Amino acid sequence: MRTLQMVDTKTQYLKIKPQVDEAVLKVMESSMFIGGKVVNDFAANLAAYNGVKHVITCANGTDALQISMMALDLKPGDEVITPSFTYIATVEAAALLHLQPVFVDVDKQTFCMDIEAIEKAITPKTKAIIPVHLYGHAVNMEKIMAIAKKYNLFVIEDNAQAIGCDYSFSDGTVTKTGGIGHIGCTSFYPSKNLGAFGDGGAIFTNDDALAEKLKMIASHGQSKRYYHEMVGCNSRLDAMQAAILDIKLKYLDEYIAARRKVADFYDNGFAGHEKIVTPFRAQYSNHVFHQYTLVLNNVDRDGLNKYLADKGIPSMIYYPVPCHKQKMFDAFGGKNYQLPTTDWLTQRVISLPIHTELDEEQQAFIVSVVLEYINR
Ligand SMILES: *Cc1c(COP(=O)(O)O)cnc(C)c1O
Repeated sequence: MRTLQMVDTKTQYLKIKPQVDEAVLKVMESSMFIGGKVVNDFAANLAAYNGVKHVITCANGTDALQISMMALDLKPGDEVITPSFTYIATVEAAALLHLQPVFVDVDKQTFCMDIEAIEKAITPKTKAIIPVHLYGHAVNMEKIMAIAKKYNLFVIEDNAQAIGCDYSFSDGTVTKTGGIGHIGCTSFYPSKNLGAFGDGGAIFTNDDALAEKLKMIASHGQSKRYYHEMVGCNSRLDAMQAAILDIKLKYLDEYIAARRKVADFYDNGFAGHEKIVTPFRAQYSNHVFHQYTLVLNNVDRDGLNKYLADKGIPSMIYYPVPCHKQKMFDAFGGKNYQLPTTDWLTQRVISLPIHTELDEEQQAFIVSVVLEYINR
C-alpha cells in the first residue's frame, strides 16, 4: 500500500506532469513572470467557472481577505462578524486593519456560522459578515444574504476551502460559493482543492466598481502605473502559478468528484456508529470535502490520533484552538466570548486523510483502523 498522507499533491502532479511542465517552461521562456496574458487568462477562466463577473488574482488567500476588507472603506473599530471556529486567516486580516472581530458560534451539524447568532451579534457598528464555508461545506448563504440586506451589511465569503461548491437557493437557482456575497475570497495554497505549486489567492465579485477598487488596492492603489489613488498593497499571483492553476482548473470538477467518492466510502464505513458522527450534507448545497471531519462521542481523541499515527495513518485536528481563545485576540476581547458549540466541536473533531489520489485499499485500511480503536 502506498504511504498515507493527509494530501498527496505529488501523485496528483504526476498525472498531469507533461502539461504542467510544458506550461511552466513556456512561462520561463517568455520571461513574463508577473502579470500578462497567462494571469489574465486564468482569471477569466476562473471567473467563467465560478460564474462571477470579476476575478482579481492576488498573492494568497489571507491577502484576498485583507484586500476585500480594505475595499469596503471600513473604519477602525467597525465590527465584522465571523466564526471563531475557522482558520486564523479569516479573522487576522480584520484585526490587522483595526477592525473589531465579533465572534459568533457555529452550527453543530454544518460547523458553519449559526445564523441566529449572527442577528443577535449585530450592533450599530457592524459593517460586514464573513461567513466561512468550512471544510468545503457551504454556509446557509440565502439566510446570510437576507440578514445582510435587512441590516445593510457587506458579505465577504471566505471560500478558501470550498471552491467549486454549488449552492442552491430556494427558488432553484444554483450559484457557486464565492459568487454569492458582495465579495468572495479563495486560496490556492497547495493543499487546497485548487492548489498551486506555491502561494496564490483570488477575489471574486460581480460588482464593477468594487472590482476596480480591489484591483487597485492589490496593486499599490494604482489607477495606472505610478498614479496612486489610495493606500494599497502589493499582492500578485505570479504567471507560473497562474499557468499551473489554469491547467488544474480543468480538472477541478474531477478532483471534487474524487474527494466526494472518498467521503462516501468513509460515510459507509462509519455509518450508524454511535461514537462517530460523519459529515453533515445540507440540502442547500453539495460538499466539496476539503476536509473529511468526524465528530467523536466518548472517544479519547488524542489516543485515536496516536493509534492511527502508529499504523502510518495521519490525522489532524482543525483547529485545536478556536480564534477567540488565541492569544492574538486577547486584545480584542476574545476571552469574553462564550461559544459553547465552538468549544464542544474543538474538543471532538478529527480530520482523516482526504484527497484526489486516495485509493480504496487505503480508505478501507483507514476505516478499519479507526473502528479497531473505537470498538476496543
Ligand atoms: C487557507 C485558508 C485561508 C488563507 O489562505 P492562504 O492562501 O493560506 O493565505 C483563509 N481562510 C481559510 C478558511 C483557509 O482555509
